[in-house]
Amino acid sequence: MSEAQATGDQNEKRIPALVLSGFLGSGKTTVVQHLLADAATRGIRIALISNELGELGIDRALMGQGGQSYIELEGGCVCCELSDDLLETLVELKRDVNPDRFVIETSGVALPYDTQLNFWREPACDFIGDDMAVVVVNADQLAEGRDLEGTFEDQVQSADLLILNKLDLVPEADWPAVEARLREIEPEAPLVRAVRGDVELDLLFPPDAGELDRRGETPATRPHSHEQFETSEWNPEPGMTSEAIEAHLASAGLLRAKGFARTGQGIRLVQVVGRRVEITEPDSAPPEELLGRIVLIRRSEGLHSHD
Ligand SMILES: [Zn+2]
Repeated sequence: MSEAQATGDQNEKRIPALVLSGFLGSGKTTVVQHLLADAATRGIRIALISNELGELGIDRALMGQGGQSYIELEGGCVCCELSDDLLETLVELKRDVNPDRFVIETSGVALPYDTQLNFWREPACDFIGDDMAVVVVNADQLAEGRDLEGTFEDQVQSADLLILNKLDLVPEADWPAVEARLREIEPEAPLVRAVRGDVELDLLFPPDAGELDRRGETPATRPHSHEQFETSEWNPEPGMTSEAIEAHLASAGLLRAKGFARTGQGIRLVQVVGRRVEITEPDSAPPEELLGRIVLIRRSEGLHSHD
C-alpha cells in the first residue's frame, strides 16, 4: 500500500459495512435485493461480497445499475477458511471501486461476529466505518423447532440486530410463541419482524443528519409491509459528557443512532448499533453542519399493537 493510501486525505471516507447472516432459506438474499434496489434508485454504490452459493437469488441486472459491484467468494466459509480472502477482497474493492457501502452476505453456516472481526484487522480498520451484524431468521423454522441448536444459537447470539423473516408462513396467532422461542436463545438483541425480507433499510444503513435534511419534512413514502419506525434528531447540549450521552442513548429504546456531539472532551462520533453504544473520537473533523446532531431510529409507538 502506498503512503498516500495509508494516511488518506481530507476526502477519505469511511465505508459502512454490513454482515448479513442466516441459514439457507432464511431469506437473507431477499434483504440484499432490497438493499440493491434501494441503492440503485438513490445512486448509492454497494460492493456486495457474497459467500452464499446455494441461494443464487441475486438479480444480476441490479448489479449493472449505479456502479454496484459484486464478488463471490467460493471454496469455503468467510468467517473461517476464507477470512484472509475476505480481508483481501475488501482492500481490493476499496482501492478499485471505493464504494459507498459494503454488504457481506455470508454462507448459511458462518458466524457473523467472526466475519465482523475482519473489519477490525489492518488495513481494513483504516477505511471501514460503522459495522453491523444482522441475522435473518426464518420464522417457519422457529415455529417448527428445526435446527435451533449449535450454529443457529451461535449466529443469533452474536447478532446486533435480528430480522424475524417469513412471518407470512406462520399464523399470526403463533407469532408471540415464535418470538418467545427466539428470545429464549437471545434475550437482548433488537428484533424486527419482516415478510419477504422487507425491513426498514435505515436500520441497516442509518442516514446522517445531512441526509435527513435532504429528505425534508416528508417521511419516506416507499410502500412497505414491515413494522413502522421513526427517524428523529437529537441535539445534545454542547459540553455534555460522553457518559451522560451514553446514558441517555442507552435508555432511549433505540435500534440505531448516529451523529456527532460536541462533548466536554471534544467532538465525538456517537453510534448506537443494537445493544452497543459507541462514543469515539472521529479520525477527521466532521462537516460543521453535522455537529451536535444525532439521528435516532426507533419503533413508532402505537402502530404495531397486536391486541
Ligand atoms: Zn466459517
